[in-house]
Amino acid sequence: MALIVQKFGGTSVANAERIFNVANRVVETYDQDNDVVVVVSAQGDTTDELIEKAKEINPRASKREMDVLLSTGEQQSMALLAMAIEKIGRPVVSLSAWQVGLMTDSNYSNSRIKRIVGNRIQAELDKHKIVVMAGFQGINKFDDVTTLGRGGSDTSAVAVASALGADLCQIYTDVRGVFTADPRIVPDAVQLNDISYDEMLELASLGANVLHNRSVEMAKKYNINLEVLSSLEKAPGTIVKEANSVEKMLVRGVARDNDIARISLVGVEDTPGKAFQIFAHLAKKKVNVDVILQSIGRDGKKDISFTVPSSQLEATRKTLDENSGMIGAEHIDINENVSKVSIVGAGMASNPGVAATMFEALYDAGININMISTSEIKVSVLIDKPYAEDAVRAIHAKFHLDAKRD
Ligand code: ADP
Ligand code: ASP
Ligand code: MG
Repeated sequence: MALIVQKFGGTSVANAERIFNVANRVVETYDQDNDVVVVVSAQGDTTDELIEKAKEINPRASKREMDVLLSTGEQQSMALLAMAIEKIGRPVVSLSAWQVGLMTDSNYSNSRIKRIVGNRIQAELDKHKIVVMAGFQGINKFDDVTTLGRGGSDTSAVAVASALGADLCQIYTDVRGVFTADPRIVPDAVQLNDISYDEMLELASLGANVLHNRSVEMAKKYNINLEVLSSLEKAPGTIVKEANSVEKMLVRGVARDNDIARISLVGVEDTPGKAFQIFAHLAKKKVNVDVILQSIGRDGKKDISFTVPSSQLEATRKTLDENSGMIGAEHIDINENVSKVSIVGAGMASNPGVAATMFEALYDAGININMISTSEIKVSVLIDKPYAEDAVRAIHAKFHLDAKRD
């Protein structure tokens, strides 16, 4: 007997037929003498629809009220799935975040899980019930509802797996696993049998939304056995695990992120401490600054450009406005028509030619690079958004990722 956490995403519970499909899968696992905790996302496009609804009422609604609204999507799914399991005839109970005691910080719309208090889930499992829990939502110290950021149900699942000491955490989705690139962009992308936590964390953070990046971060920290697989077909998935048991590929995958913006502070005074001051203010507002480029000073002035997630553009704008005196830029240029395209692979740390090959692929495709950033296991470039998908395909082909079936 094992304890298994199974998470099902929006497409997997999109309608009644899909909910019964999920219910049958869960019951199959339960009938094999396992304890099962199920984490569900909102059905289909529910979260997007709720956001649209809110915009009709108040486009500047507070994040607190947005979280109250968005959390209802998952609450519907958990009840519907529990009803389907009831109908099949197995004992089941649905639980929301406050019932489970899933505590987060108070960073509404993008909260971090702190811990799971209480043992309600264990008590229900002890009664041999299947537990269906709402993903994405949490509760803070004020007893307010919070949400974990888009795609956050994956993180709910890993958190629960860790709190309960589960044997396995399965993330069921609408593709068979993790591929060398988004199979919707690159039709001949290849499914990976396994991938290291570090590589998956990079891919997820760089736009491969098949897993929420924080779920990978947490799985690595608590050494959770994580598997990504399809809810729609029965096929082996992708295992996410410790690096030492994964082959070190030069390039494991290509990712694209369209949800970013580039900010250029033009004509900033070229004095020590400027970058520190600017980025310290942004950090205080929890803005995730990514690729940073600073020009060489001329006539006592320099330009500083950086990227931020689109979701944090407003907060960035506000912070820059509030500190415009200190920053003293001649003007600020904001460009939302950019994408970040990245390659990730543990093997590139010891192989200096990788970045050049990536740039060659872009050159061959006639795509201009605006900014570059590298780390041990990734290279990212900023390019104009309309070329992003072509760039992913060109880079994928250049590294022969379609040919490398493992
Ligand atoms: P869910 O609703 O199940 O959480 P998501 O839409 O969040 O599903 O994530 C699954 C999607 O992630 C896939 O449909 C696919 O388009 C996309 N994706 C992006 N990059 C990758 C990748 N490298 N491998 C697999 N899927 C990817
Ligand atoms: N329903 C939320 C979203 O659409 C959370 C999730 O699907 O993981 O982002
Ligand atoms: Mg998801």
